[in-house]
Amino acid sequence: MKGSDMEQEREHYDWIVVGSGFGGSVSALRLAQKGYSVLVLEQGRRFRDQDFAKSNWNLRRWLWLPWLGCRGILRMTFFRHMTVLSGVGVGGGSLVYANTLPTPGDSFFDSASWSSLADWKRELAPHYATALKMLGATSVPFSTPADEALGAVAKDLNLEDQHHPARVSVWFGEEGVTVPDPYFDGEGPERTGCIRCGACMVGCRHGAKNSLTFNYLYMAEKLGVRVDADTRVTAVHQPQAGGEITVEARTRRPFGLPRRRKIQADRVVLAGGVMGTLPLLLSMGKDKCGLPRLSQQLGHSVRTNCESLTGVQTLDMSVDHSKGVAIGSILHLDGGTHLETVRYPSGSGFFRLMLGPMGLGKNIFTRGADMLRRLLRSPVRWFRIYTVADWARSTVILLYMKSHAETLTLKLGRLGGLRSMSNDGPGPTADMPEADDLGRRMGEKLDGEVGTLFTQSLLGKPTTAHILGGCAMGATAQDGVIDSSHRLFGHPEIMVVDGSAISANPGVNPSLTITALAERAMEQVPPAVSVSSVPPAASVC
Ligand SMILES: Cc1cc2nc3c(=O)[nH]c(=O)nc-3n(C[C@H](O)[C@H](O)[C@H](O)COP(=O)(O)OP(=O)(O)OC[C@H]3O[C@@H](n4cnc5c(N)ncnc54)[C@H](O)[C@@H]3O)c2cc1C
Ligand code: SF4
Repeated sequence: MKGSDMEQEREHYDWIVVGSGFGGSVSALRLAQKGYSVLVLEQGRRFRDQDFAKSNWNLRRWLWLPWLGCRGILRMTFFRHMTVLSGVGVGGGSLVYANTLPTPGDSFFDSASWSSLADWKRELAPHYATALKMLGATSVPFSTPADEALGAVAKDLNLEDQHHPARVSVWFGEEGVTVPDPYFDGEGPERTGCIRCGACMVGCRHGAKNSLTFNYLYMAEKLGVRVDADTRVTAVHQPQAGGEITVEARTRRPFGLPRRRKIQADRVVLAGGVMGTLPLLLSMGKDKCGLPRLSQQLGHSVRTNCESLTGVQTLDMSVDHSKGVAIGSILHLDGGTHLETVRYPSGSGFFRLMLGPMGLGKNIFTRGADMLRRLLRSPVRWFRIYTVADWARSTVILLYMKSHAETLTLKLGRLGGLRSMSNDGPGPTADMPEADDLGRRMGEKLDGEVGTLFTQSLLGKPTTAHILGGCAMGATAQDGVIDSSHRLFGHPEIMVVDGSAISANPGVNPSLTITALAERAMEQVPPAVSVSSVPPAASVC
C-alpha cells in the first residue's frame, strides 16, 4: 500500500477518513473496493468483545473522558440547550448504540430543507436496502414485559397496528452459540447468538451485536484499509490553490507524549460525527492556512430528534426488565412521533445518580415545584425506588422522538469548545406533556413512577443521542456547506459523510439513514484510476 511503503519518510494516501462510525466505515470499505489506498484515523480505542465494561459503573471502559483516564465508548457533552450523547472508538456510535434501524417517514424525504436537491426517497431506496443487509438488520424475535406494556398503551390509544418489534442489527441465531459468518458468504467474522442480556449500550461482550467492526470495517480492513486507533485529527489544511491535503493528527502513546503526525492525502472524508466534524471544520475555517473557503452556513441547521428520555421505575420485583435487547419495540404515534422501550443490563445503575421525578413547566421554579409535588405525592414509593438493589432490573426507559423543524447553531466558544445558539425559536425543549402522558400510561401498566434525568426535569434541557446537521446540503455555498454529493463547497476534494450531513429531521433513530446516505455518496466517487488526474501538491501554506 502506498501509505505503508512510504511511512518512514512521508505518509501519503489516496483518501484519509476521519472517524470510524457509520459514515466513516461505509466510506472506507467502498473506497477500498474502488481501488484506493485508505487510512482511517479514529480518536477512540479499539475494543475486543471482552474489553467492554460489564456494567456502566465501570466508567473507565464506558465513558469517554480521556483527561480523567476514561477511554470508553460514550461521550456526554453538555450544552446550553441540550445534553448530547455520542459514541467513540473504532466503530464509532455503533459500539454504544441500541442497534435500532428504523426508516424515516416521507416528511423526512420531502422536507423543504433539502427536497429541491434530489428525489431522496427514490434515490435512497436501494441504499437503505444495502445498508440493512450490511448491518444484518432483523426484527426482534421475542417480546418482553415492557413491550407488552407498550402494546397495551397502544391498544388504549387505538394504535395497536402501529406497535411493532424493533428492527435491530443483532445476530439472534441460537442463544450463545457461535456460527461461521452468516452474512457475507463466509467472508465475514463468526457471530454468536444474542443472549438477551440487554447490554448493547454498554458494549456487547458476546459477539452478537452487528457493530461496524463486524461488517463494513471488518471488510475494509480485509481489503487493506489501515485503521489507526487512539489517533485524533487536530487539523486539515489545503493550500489556497487546492491540491494535496495535509491532515495533522496525534496518536496516543501509553507512556509519554502523543506522537504528532502530518499525513498527506489526495482526498479526505470527514466522518467524525457532529461532535467531531463540526469543531474540526469550524477551527479550520478560522485558520487562514486551514480551509479558508468554507461556507458561512457551517454550524447552522443543527437538529435533534427532539427526544425525551423518561424512566418508568417499577416496584414489581417479580419482573426483570433488564433482559432483552436494548430497544425491544417501537410505537408509531403518528407519521413523525415515535416511542421506544429501552433497557440497560442488570447491574448498570449509573443513570440512577441523575434521575428524579418528572418535572414539567416553563422555568426552573415551576419544574422544581412539579418535581417536588410528584415526590411528595408518593414519598415512600420514591424512597423504595431510589434504594432498589438493581436499578436496571426494575426500570424501563422510554425514548420519545418527534420530527420538528426547529434548528440550532453550533459555534466555537472562546476556549475552543462548541457552544449552542437557538435560531428560529427557543430551541429543543424538555417540556413535552405528551411524553409525560405516555410515561404516566406506561407507569400505570407497570406499577411504576415516572422519572427523568435532572438535566431534563430541573434544567429543562432535553438529552439527545441523535445530534444531526451543521454541514447541511445546499445548491450553493450561500445555502449549504456541502453539495448533494457531500463535497465541501470551496474544497470539493473534502467530503462530509456522517450525521452532520443530514439535512432534514428524520424523527427516528438516524444510523440507518446515515449509512444509506454514505452508500449513495460513495457510489458517486469514480474508481481509483481517475484519481491520477488530481493536481500535484501546490505550495504549502
Ligand atoms: C447511547 C446511544 C444509543 C444510540 N442508539 C441508536 C439506535 O438505536 N439507532 C440509531 O440509529 N442511532 C442510535 N444512536 C445514534 C448513533 O449512534 C449516531 O447517530 C451515529 O453513530 C452517528 O454516526 P456518524 O457516522 O455521524 O458518526 P459516529 O458513529 O458518531 O462516529 C464518529 C467517530 O469519529 C470519531 N472522531 C470524531 N472526531 C474525531 C477526530 N478529530 N479524529 C479522529 N476521530 C474522530 C469519534 O470518536 C467516533 O468514533 C445512539 C447513540 C447513543 C449515544
Ligand atoms: S442483548 Fe446482549 S448479547 Fe444481545 S446484542 Fe445486546 S449486548 Fe449483545
